Amino acid sequence: MGKLFDKYAVVTGGAGFLGSHLCDRLIGEGAHVTAIDNLITGDMRNIAHLVGNDHFRFVKHDVTEYIFVDGPVDYILHFASPASPIDYLKLPIQTLKVGSLGTHKALGLAKNKNARFLLASTSEIYGDPLIHPQPETYWGNVNPVGLRGVYDEAKRFAEAMTMAYQRYHAVQTRIVRIFNTYGPRMRINDGRAIPAFISQALRGEDVTVFGSGKQTRSVCYVDDLIEGIFRLLLSDIGDPVNIGNQSEISMLDLAKEVIQLTGSNSKLVFKELPEDDPKVRQPETTRAKKLLDWEARVDRKDGLRNTIAYFRTAMGLQG
Ligand code: NAD
Repeated sequence: MGKLFDKYAVVTGGAGFLGSHLCDRLIGEGAHVTAIDNLITGDMRNIAHLVGNDHFRFVKHDVTEYIFVDGPVDYILHFASPASPIDYLKLPIQTLKVGSLGTHKALGLAKNKNARFLLASTSEIYGDPLIHPQPETYWGNVNPVGLRGVYDEAKRFAEAMTMAYQRYHAVQTRIVRIFNTYGPRMRINDGRAIPAFISQALRGEDVTVFGSGKQTRSVCYVDDLIEGIFRLLLSDIGDPVNIGNQSEISMLDLAKEVIQLTGSNSKLVFKELPEDDPKVRQPETTRAKKLLDWEARVDRKDGLRNTIAYFRTAMGLQG
């Protein structure tokens, strides 16, 4: 029997990359899950395996509008938001609306149902950080009028709104600051580095690295992230917690690793660095370790192998 036996959870953004993995985990723990998604960047294929499961229901709805859910709700996990730079640069107003109005509506539902609320925040709230690695106490270095401001500021507002509901309405809230995560169900063309590298390498095309490739990221395998989120959800920690993998790698080395793991002959090409692209990004995860007894466990090469296998199938290539 799972830890959420007979509990009711709502996952906004449930048809997305992370939301769909979360639905799987919650159902695996015995919960009844309602996924709410307007499919703006999500895909029904991510949850196709859950359709017909009597612990799962899908509601197509834009969460910037009033959210109605009948029956009890114990947990609300608010994951709806365009998340990849390609998406939020193409959908700037929708991104701002879902971070502000969508968070407000989801918190309203939590208050109404007396449910616990968990916000999917992001390392982007630290912007282009001036301290490294980034602990939860760092306030960030964000350009509010830069192109990426639509995402960063929406999430900063969402955090502020979440804390206000905690302080003024006594809603039980949790905030996870997610650092770059990868794994099966990412979209091939979502503009993030790992799907781009893998799909280019599998097609035998040149692999594109931005700038000199010296900028770093710390990439977390999706199973590790979901475990951290699950622990946070069940914890009593009302302040933000970083969840991410501490192992830092340059984009250049990551591209080389992907080429090697796919067995491709692709060459590297370099393109200009996009505006406000953070130069370094590494989570400080002492809090997660201390308070949740959580740390990333999946080795990057293993995680990349699983992701490459997923993309091979998704791209119709042989294994
Ligand atoms: P995704 O694009 O795959 O999923 C987001 C989902 O939200 C999609 O299914 C989309 O259709 C849905 N959505 C967007 N606006 C909506 C609205 N107004 N109403 C209803 N549904 C809406 O992205 P993801 O990578 O799964 O990200 C999920 C969440 O995690 C986001 O909030 C994102 O900011 C956060 N996050 C992700 C990462 C990462 O590395 N993937 C890092 C930091 C934070």
